[in-house]
Amino acid sequence: MLQQTQVKTVIPFYQTFVRHYQNISSLANASIDDVLSLWTGLGYYARARNLHKTATIIHNDYDDEMPNSLEALIALPGIGRSTAGAIMALAHHQYFPILDGNVKRVLARYKAISGWPGNKAVEQLLWQHAEQLLPNNRIAHYIQAQMDLGATICTRIKPECEMCPLHSDCMAFQQGNSQDYPSPKPKKVIPIRKTNWIVAQSGLGEVLLEQRPNSGIWGGLWSFPEIDTTENIQHICQHQLNLNTINISVKPHFRHVFSHFKLDITPHIIQCNNNDNHISENKNISWYKISDALRLGLPAPVKSFLKTL
Ligand code: SF4
Repeated sequence: MLQQTQVKTVIPFYQTFVRHYQNISSLANASIDDVLSLWTGLGYYARARNLHKTATIIHNDYDDEMPNSLEALIALPGIGRSTAGAIMALAHHQYFPILDGNVKRVLARYKAISGWPGNKAVEQLLWQHAEQLLPNNRIAHYIQAQMDLGATICTRIKPECEMCPLHSDCMAFQQGNSQDYPSPKPKKVIPIRKTNWIVAQSGLGEVLLEQRPNSGIWGGLWSFPEIDTTENIQHICQHQLNLNTINISVKPHFRHVFSHFKLDITPHIIQCNNNDNHISENKNISWYKISDALRLGLPAPVKSFLKTL
């Protein structure tokens, strides 16, 4: 979900995008390259791809009209139950609930529902309340008001309960602990992994790089050969990498942070007197001049480290 400051930053980009593609057929008929180029600055490029795919489907299969069933909307790329509900309510005046981030917060406070809304059971409960609270008339106004209330009054920090039209029925406000809802996302302990880089430098000032498998971290990028343990580093250099080792020294380790783990990397500088390109039968490992290596697809920490050599 975008924060308020991010929203302000991206609004001009959205306006440009919407001005350019004023209807479904103009977006459907655009090339994906043009769409992605106009999306620059908005991030989340999957959204642009989904928008384009969805516009194409609506143009081809629905004669440029939004489908008017929840199931058909949910079947479109990038549209989940909440967005489909919003379209049904706002575009077709049908009585469906929504549950975006703002509405989750409003309902969690209004009904004093504990637990993180990303938890399936909590989310299920919120959907039940969202459904039960649907009004009997003016659904479009109701849905718009719910979203606006969450965005402007029942904000994440310092909700303005005194001026909120719901405060006489709001359970969290009555309890005096509005800000305790919804519960924050439980913090996960991010694991730390360790690896060792073999930074081999030839007598000609070249470095040895290995192309990583396509799957896994840094898939398909070029990196230094890695080993889990340094116990047999001499043996590995000599027999697996065919290096004529002259000297081995160790640099201080440094940390690279991924979204789901941290990687502590220890570079081992291997000075060797190899001066030909023959390493092994493996074509995915080769000597490169540093200037040539910097033009390859490299993970950011490999690129930074190469520049220090
Ligand atoms: S009274 Fe306060 S906590 Fe309750 S819905 Fe209104 S702004 Fe949110």
